[in-house]
Amino acid sequence: MVICMVGTGYVGLVVGACLAGSGNQVMCVDTDAAKIEMLNQGLLPIYEPGLQEIVAHNRQADRLHFSTDVAAAVRASQLVFIGVGTPPTEDGSADLQHVVAVAHTIGQNLNGYKVIVTKSTVPVGTGDRIRQTIASYTDQPFAVVSNPEFLKEGDAVQDFLKPDRIIIGTDDPRARSIMEELYAPFQRTSDRILFVDLRSAEMTKYAANAMLATRISFMNDIAWLCEAVGADVTAVRRGLGSDPRIGSKFLFPGVGFGGSCFPKDLRALVRTGREHDRPMAILEAVIQVNERQKNLLVDKLRRHFGDSLAGLTVAVWGLAFKPGTDDLREAPAVHTIQSLNDLGVRVRAADPVATERARALFGPQVACFVDEYQALDGADALLVMTEWSAYRQPDFPRMKAIMAQAVILDGRNIYSPSKMRELGFTYYAVGRPPVVPDKP
Ligand code: NAD
Repeated sequence: MVICMVGTGYVGLVVGACLAGSGNQVMCVDTDAAKIEMLNQGLLPIYEPGLQEIVAHNRQADRLHFSTDVAAAVRASQLVFIGVGTPPTEDGSADLQHVVAVAHTIGQNLNGYKVIVTKSTVPVGTGDRIRQTIASYTDQPFAVVSNPEFLKEGDAVQDFLKPDRIIIGTDDPRARSIMEELYAPFQRTSDRILFVDLRSAEMTKYAANAMLATRISFMNDIAWLCEAVGADVTAVRRGLGSDPRIGSKFLFPGVGFGGSCFPKDLRALVRTGREHDRPMAILEAVIQVNERQKNLLVDKLRRHFGDSLAGLTVAVWGLAFKPGTDDLREAPAVHTIQSLNDLGVRVRAADPVATERARALFGPQVACFVDEYQALDGADALLVMTEWSAYRQPDFPRMKAIMAQAVILDGRNIYSPSKMRELGFTYYAVGRPPVVPDKP
């Protein structure tokens, strides 16, 4: 099939490249000329494991192309995917300006039956709005399909190639069979497509993110209480997760969820609830807990060093909102570093892949390193914000020698408190009793 992917970001690039991998002709288009230029030079604008190889292979096979000419790509295609950003607005609702702009371009260039597929996460009713916008330009037949994306940054390629489920929202039989054919290579072992109506498909994406975020905030609340009553949330989590009715995934307490999806999608769903006079009480609490959690390590630093942190040097390990990506959008580390800067703390930060993005974001105010040990130089404390695997078993004696004070605040519970005690670190984690060495 000939496919146009509008929006070549974390979703569009992965989906476009993987669809080219199954033999389709894919034109990935974007209004960001610098991004397209990079891609045409064989460089990736994002970090995503396994993506470089797929992009290179399909470019070489002449199946994957990059361009800024959205109109021409729409005209040449049978399927047009909308994968542009839907960032949050001031009031929490999803900003649909990019989606609507694409709908106008599609309407102006419709030259025969096409299936318009929304990959972007959009509020319920957006598919109908896209349909109306396109229809205002043309009498040509077309179908609008909602096909929300469930890939996770860091595992995006594998998630797309081996999906748990493919949700397709449409009431158009022709579009249904085209989508079935498109996804056939990705569900060879079992039928993973769920056909639903358009609005239910749009809602499913929000409901899935809302449920996952709820589990995280729930555990963060339990961890908060564990600290007060002297329980260890790690033990509680194991006990809880071994109940098959609950399951063990998304039960890790930490410094709050971030990224480009959970925070914005929750706010958008809460907003939709308010618009329909159906307040989403649980989700409002989920967001509230997450806001508290993002301040957790700064609060713990204050409790340890006293109210004024000015003049301290703090190392931060991990900037991306989770391991496996360079995405800094709504990353808890970014929030924490901004708070530390405001309090007059000198921050030295490390991340294996997000360093360049962090330099662009923070400027000279924050020293950013790829090497985690460089960030520790003269540090009064280390904050672990992202659980990159290289941080899990570091050289602790080396760390102690580099740091000015042996204080670790572990926002991801990756270290063993007994080991920290043995090594003589002062250690604070999330929902676990602290380790404070005896005074000599
Ligand atoms: P992104 O910001 O990485 O990429 C969006 C791209 O769209 C940008 O390159 C931008 O330049 C381009 N764009 C904007 N307006 C355009 C226009 N009019 N024409 C052509 N290109 C245009 O965003 P993303 O993370 O890929 O997310 C895209 C959508 O997918 C969002 O709705 C998001 O909620 C959803 N989603 C994201 C993820 C994820 O993990 N990132 C997962 C599932 C769903």
